[in-house]
Amino acid sequence: MLATRTITDTNTVAITRTFDGIEEAAHRVIAQAGGMESVIRGAKIAILKPNLVAGRDASTGSTTSFELMKAVAEEVRACGAEPVLCETPGTEFDREATYTILGIEKFCQENNIRILRVDPEGGEADWMELRPEGARKLRTFHIPQIMKEARLINLPVLKTHVVSGITLSMKNVMGILPRPDRRNMHTFGIGQSIVDMNLGIKPDLNIVDGSVGQDGEGPLYGDKADLQVLVAGRDSLSVDLACCELVGVNPRDIPHLRLALQQMGRPWWQLAGEDVGLIKRFRLPEQKALYRFIFWLMYPLDYPYSWIAERGKHFCTSLYSTGLVGTRPKINEEKCTHCGVCVDACPLPNVIDLTTLKVNPKTCQRCLLCYEACPENAISVKGYSGARQ
Ligand code: SF4
Ligand code: SF4
Repeated sequence: MLATRTITDTNTVAITRTFDGIEEAAHRVIAQAGGMESVIRGAKIAILKPNLVAGRDASTGSTTSFELMKAVAEEVRACGAEPVLCETPGTEFDREATYTILGIEKFCQENNIRILRVDPEGGEADWMELRPEGARKLRTFHIPQIMKEARLINLPVLKTHVVSGITLSMKNVMGILPRPDRRNMHTFGIGQSIVDMNLGIKPDLNIVDGSVGQDGEGPLYGDKADLQVLVAGRDSLSVDLACCELVGVNPRDIPHLRLALQQMGRPWWQLAGEDVGLIKRFRLPEQKALYRFIFWLMYPLDYPYSWIAERGKHFCTSLYSTGLVGTRPKINEEKCTHCGVCVDACPLPNVIDLTTLKVNPKTCQRCLLCYEACPENAISVKGYSGARQ
């Protein structure tokens, strides 16, 4: 997976629809992209890097579908390698709580996938340093030690992103970096940092999950796109450009893709599978300048904060846990009948207090399952998002 690997095969991008099921489509697109043997090439481990940014399941278009991960794990095992899941959610979310909401432990157990829990805060025990040649802003960063020998299978979701415009193969690998490096990426400028990161990390295979996908105010609370497509290939930029064509996005409107085209050149690829043309014209998020500035500001402020806060605490996490910012549920006392349905729907303990009708902002992971379950429409969603108010 490291940048030193030479890709000698033809640059193929395979596209297939998921009408006959995501698992079937996943096996098909892997074969169209050259087959899993050509990805594994005798390696003993394959890292599966899905997009599990938060506790919003794949039906919302926020996270990678279990069916895709299952099919990939089967293909990896058939090649004699061990599938290992490695993923840390967005900075403001807790990994264990996110895994609980999504049911990751159970899914991985049932499908014989090992979960690798690297220390998200960094440190020499789990991480190795990369200094990609030609990097302009993110000159040094860390990846898990295990990636020295493992293959990397990147499994992003085809969706928009309120900060980067769109998140596909090139951005998704960010979730494999420790939080201090992710903080640097936001502070230095996310567009150039994504390009720099991709000078050091070259996935052995990308499969973009567009089985649902999301447009508008993604990556969590945008509109379900129902694209029913998978896109696979080795070269991240080629795969991302092919995805842009499917959703009518000009890559030059996406800062990291524009910079990648300027600095890496426009790649050529051979299309395999179906030539499906435009599936749905995506609406890109409205990136209000003030929102972008405030979001950016959290990261530089985290440097002084981390000197005084205990390890693992971040300015961003602390700010969100005040309950003053971020997309979050709020119970309307007048409408609530105290039925308790929301408490049963919440996958985490002790978040909703039925006596006070308060949602604990320190433990709530903002999955909105309570909001969807309430029979009285007594829960509203506060904060910036595309969700129903
Ligand atoms: S589900 Fe709705 S009505 Fe029932 S307790 Fe929760 S907020 Fe109140
Ligand atoms: S309170 Fe609602 S939004 Fe928060 S974790 Fe529970 S179900 Fe999810």
